[in-house]
Amino acid sequence: MKKYQAVIVGAGFSGMCMGIKLKAAGLNDFVIIEKAHDVGGTWRENTYPGAECDIPSALYSYSFEHNDEWEYKWSGQAQILKYQQDTAVKYGLTEHLVLGCEINKAVFDEATAEWTLSAASGQQFQAQHFICAVGQLHIPAIPPFSNLQEFEGDHFHSAEWDHAVELAGKRVAVIGNAASAVQIVPAIVDKVEQLTVFQRSPNWMLPKVDRPYTSWEQRLSRKIPLLARFYRFSIWIFGEWLILPALRGNRLANWVVGVLCRRNLSKAIKDPELRRVLTPDYPLGAKRILFGDTYYPALLRDNVALQTEPVESFTPEGIRVAGQEIPFDVVVFATGFQTNPFLASIEVRGSGGQLLSEHWRDGAYAYLGIATHGFPNLYMMYGPNTNLGHSSILLMIEAQADYIVQCMQALKGQALVSIEVKAGAEQSYNEQLQQRLSDMAFNQIDKSWYKDGDRITNNWAGGTLEYARLLREVDWTSFDTR
Ligand code: NAP
Repeated sequence: MKKYQAVIVGAGFSGMCMGIKLKAAGLNDFVIIEKAHDVGGTWRENTYPGAECDIPSALYSYSFEHNDEWEYKWSGQAQILKYQQDTAVKYGLTEHLVLGCEINKAVFDEATAEWTLSAASGQQFQAQHFICAVGQLHIPAIPPFSNLQEFEGDHFHSAEWDHAVELAGKRVAVIGNAASAVQIVPAIVDKVEQLTVFQRSPNWMLPKVDRPYTSWEQRLSRKIPLLARFYRFSIWIFGEWLILPALRGNRLANWVVGVLCRRNLSKAIKDPELRRVLTPDYPLGAKRILFGDTYYPALLRDNVALQTEPVESFTPEGIRVAGQEIPFDVVVFATGFQTNPFLASIEVRGSGGQLLSEHWRDGAYAYLGIATHGFPNLYMMYGPNTNLGHSSILLMIEAQADYIVQCMQALKGQALVSIEVKAGAEQSYNEQLQQRLSDMAFNQIDKSWYKDGDRITNNWAGGTLEYARLLREVDWTSFDTR
């Protein structure tokens, strides 16, 4: 079995960033193991019609790898994936990739302070450092609808889009109306014969105001990189100075964002009854605020019905709703992802053989979202409490990668074998974090993918700059090393 200094699991934005930062620091003894046959993570997996980013690409890209070839302000999946593929080649990640290898077990050996990772295929990898970069949104969740197995039409999850299924002339149901669905619905409405959108609860939605970049904008950004930086900064400011305060309960910001959402709705939907049905009944920001210009107009099309009654059960021919059967040829589940328990796809065993799933039985937590006591030399990227509702996750990911490099360099420099966060440091960090989160919009709703039971396990409480500052230098008093 080959030994490495580090094994990174996942070749999405996080794992790639980690690899790039390790190489930049001269730490070349690592592999990136990826279950699929390409880099890209979310952007390789989600190929549903209309898939595009809901953060403008000028911000949803690495700070060190500006791209002046974005065609649209909010890029589509194919272009984001190409950016990732090009970046992987440019930064020499290809030679570090192990593709088509799904890790399902990771065990820490206290005696050697090394992790052994095992793949479903039987392949094994050993490393001092185990960096888990599998993301938060990669296990599709399909609710246990009654009699689903009886349905004879085609059905698939939004993240597992079956492109072999022809939608033209079909009666299609889209279950769910959140971030994925609001992109799918306008993208397929022209194709299908009949489209029914199943809405359980309406969502807050801001206008996207998307458009292609003009050629002179692209030229200018190439010639004067400072201008491109400034544009990136202006998008960042919008999130940090308007959306984040709204999430934190600032009344003015909350009012402004609420007005923008209501205007977006009333501009498109003139019928007061439909507007009422589409007006959220939960506080702004408690769930992800959506962006879209085309979803509301799509609902007005003659071949579209908005269904607000719950799915009772599936039948061979369709879906039973309020005692009536509605026939469908295709059902799309835009029903989100299994975000909790965290890291459900890998059996992780730390010191003394303890299971991470057991350690987190009351919900995931970690010091800075990166490390957890009892699991030395394990680092998480986009781990517990690092998701954002207001800005680009890449800002968090870059800070995490720099932090992990610091840890690894310090260990190497001092010939140390292991690093483990102290239980007390992790506990006090999390108590303070949960205290702050309890005042935020995320806490004003009983259930969302941000929560595990009553605890907010997925989201960060502050701004991206605050997080980056916190991670700028490792506080060694929070760790035990040997
Ligand atoms: P989601 O936000 O979890 O939404 C799931 C949808 O399915 C909701 O409308 C939900 O209704 C509905 N649903 C769940 N169970 C249901 C049931 N039993 N019956 C009826 N409806 C049900 O999933 P998502 O839209 O895939 O988005 C997940 C996250 O992925 C987003 O928050 C975002 O962070 C990310 N994302 C990003 C992009 C992008 O950048 N372009 C695109 C897509 C997704 P309720 O609201 O009532 O629970």
